[in-house]
Amino acid sequence: MRIGVFICHCGSNIGGTVDCAKVAETARAYPDVVYAVDLMYSCAEPGQAAIEAAIHEHKLDGVVVASCSPRMHEPTFRRTVERAGLNRYMFEMANIREHVSWIGKDKVANTNKAAELVEMAVAKLRNDKPLFSKSFDINKRVLIIGGGVAGIQAALDCADGGVPVVLVERQPTIGGKMAKLDKTFPTVDCSACILGPKMVDVAQHPNITLYAMSEVEDVSGYVGNFTVKIRKRATYVDWSLCTGCGACTEKCPSKKTPDAFNEFTGPTTAINIAFPQAIPKKAVINPEYCRQMTKGKCGVCAKVCPTGAIKYDMQDEVVTEEVGCIVAATGYDLMDWTIYEQYGGGKYPDVITSLQYERLLSASGPTEGHIKRPSDGKEPQSVVFIQCVGSRDKSIGRPYCSGFCCMYTAKQAVLTKDHIPTSQSYVFYMDIRAPSKLYDEFTRRAIEEYGTEYIRGRVSKIYPDGNGQYIVKGVDTLLGQPVEIRADLVVLAVGIEASKGSPQLAEKLRISYDSYGFFMESHPKLKPVETNTAGVFLAGVCQGTKDIPSSVSQGSAAAAKVLALFARDKLENDPQIAQVDNKRCVACGKCIRCCPFGAITEVEFRGEKKAQVIETVCQGCGVCTSTCPQGAIQLSHATDNQILAEVNALCQC
Ligand code: FAD
Ligand code: SF4
Ligand code: SF4
Repeated sequence: MRIGVFICHCGSNIGGTVDCAKVAETARAYPDVVYAVDLMYSCAEPGQAAIEAAIHEHKLDGVVVASCSPRMHEPTFRRTVERAGLNRYMFEMANIREHVSWIGKDKVANTNKAAELVEMAVAKLRNDKPLFSKSFDINKRVLIIGGGVAGIQAALDCADGGVPVVLVERQPTIGGKMAKLDKTFPTVDCSACILGPKMVDVAQHPNITLYAMSEVEDVSGYVGNFTVKIRKRATYVDWSLCTGCGACTEKCPSKKTPDAFNEFTGPTTAINIAFPQAIPKKAVINPEYCRQMTKGKCGVCAKVCPTGAIKYDMQDEVVTEEVGCIVAATGYDLMDWTIYEQYGGGKYPDVITSLQYERLLSASGPTEGHIKRPSDGKEPQSVVFIQCVGSRDKSIGRPYCSGFCCMYTAKQAVLTKDHIPTSQSYVFYMDIRAPSKLYDEFTRRAIEEYGTEYIRGRVSKIYPDGNGQYIVKGVDTLLGQPVEIRADLVVLAVGIEASKGSPQLAEKLRISYDSYGFFMESHPKLKPVETNTAGVFLAGVCQGTKDIPSSVSQGSAAAAKVLALFARDKLENDPQIAQVDNKRCVACGKCIRCCPFGAITEVEFRGEKKAQVIETVCQGCGVCTSTCPQGAIQLSHATDNQILAEVNALCQC
């Protein structure tokens, strides 16, 4: 074999603490190495050209590059060797940046360790074999999970690009949190007016199939060919017949049903349409409050429905959809703020959440856009806003910033003054974070034009004063003195968390999530909408906090990834997958049970049962290879022999 070794300086990233020329010189003595050199930037064009030229000039049949993490640049170098005529798997990378130069300052020790890593890579390369991908067809349909603004944008962009979309939303209507907002910062335009047309487009688009009141139950398959089981929850109304006329909601006698869309700021009826602009605009019965379903007495809605749509015996239904890729856009929920006993823990009716306040401000809300105190329906004059309730609070395990609360608090203070010109708003804040376009200017308007009083400090306690008001006690940390404000209404900017069930969904999708349940992107800067599972993309707050403009941008970015994937007619599998040695396999089935991707099946081979790897499904994770008691499964490109060669090389060093 004729191996070439290239040691990268990565500017001073590696060169600063590793003697790269010395590593190259040492490598020249390794078996089969016929050429070794150090390069300033091996991933840059001149570096790649040098590698290609060396392959031709020295008739290399294998290449080792010692540089950075393979995560970013392994595909780059594989393409480089391929351009020069080698099989892309006749290439190995040694990570002498993250594993050496960035973690140690001792140049001699670093140089020795770098040389050892290169020796291991050479040892592995000597056992490498060319591998070849297989191509397979793509099902050019996309599943989008979550119909908030991010999912809506992704769905419309994909559908406009000619791709059939299956949009799954667990609530009765799409729109997510944006549908609940009154106005949006920094332009203070009506949320329903800008979101409404997009929601209607979703309903009318010939390429979009919408499943509302539905959730993904199971996902199997792989990029290009996923099979998804979707549970359509029973609505007790046949939506193919329901025209959304509202006759049932008008007559329903069960009028004390909790109203989730209005954030429980007022009751609704047991049969209900979420809000006037709901998409789909269809009625849903809440079985816990329906008199017919709980007591067997009523049936009013069935009597008044002109289309006979009411079906009290409806059951959940599971449907199967085949798609080529998936976009997760499941957004966020507000955390349970009632753990804050000092703010009343949910006992005081006039201490409400920011999202409840949006519903009070909104014309489609329970007070038809008039700000009224939940306790007595009076207009509040003194409104106190408290930011960071459950954000940036290490004491409850939530050190992260919820991102948009500073801005929506300023917006809500502005809207309060617009609604009640005689009112006074106070904002308790830790810091004002207003970094985007026109955001700082907007916050200044809230202070300078609208007279909102901003107090830097934390609130230690809220309690009723006995005369219908609340005392908000805190400290002004700028003045260094305690403050006490008498409030008619207190609005808490409650911190966000990943939407309910996110970790479970992540496991179904086989994507990673962080310790707070937000889905992990493949690379925080360069692959913000990709995940580590091919064909699964992210959009919106499910990946981390984002305001509406950023959620929309990410929805479009995810759609661009889907369209790019579907621009190809065939996909190629990664040949670094498991392979069964039929002679050794005793069909014990352990590999079938342990494979997290369901990629192993049992087949008949010459009259005997054997395990068989489904090549397009295997992700090369290697779990089966370490589970098989017979050693009958090997992972191509990480065989036992290759790993042992690396270990032996290290032991000889
Ligand atoms: P979401 O709006 O949360 O939508 C996610 C959707 O996915 C929901 O419909 C949910 O039901 C659905 N879903 C969740 N899990 C599943 C599942 N497993 N299966 C199927 N469906 C699922 N931003 C601004 O830019 N301007 C503002 O003025 C503004 N005001 C705000 C005011 C308040 C009080 C709050 C709390 C936020 C405000 N925001 C504002 C932020 C804004 O709400 C978010 O940026 C935006 O909603 C993010 O959209 P999304 O689609 O990522 O998530
Ligand atoms: Fe739908 Fe019938 Fe109710 Fe009208 S009365 S909204 S058609 S269920
Ligand atoms: Fe309301 Fe149930 Fe009566 Fe229908 S049957 S009107 S949903 S209580």
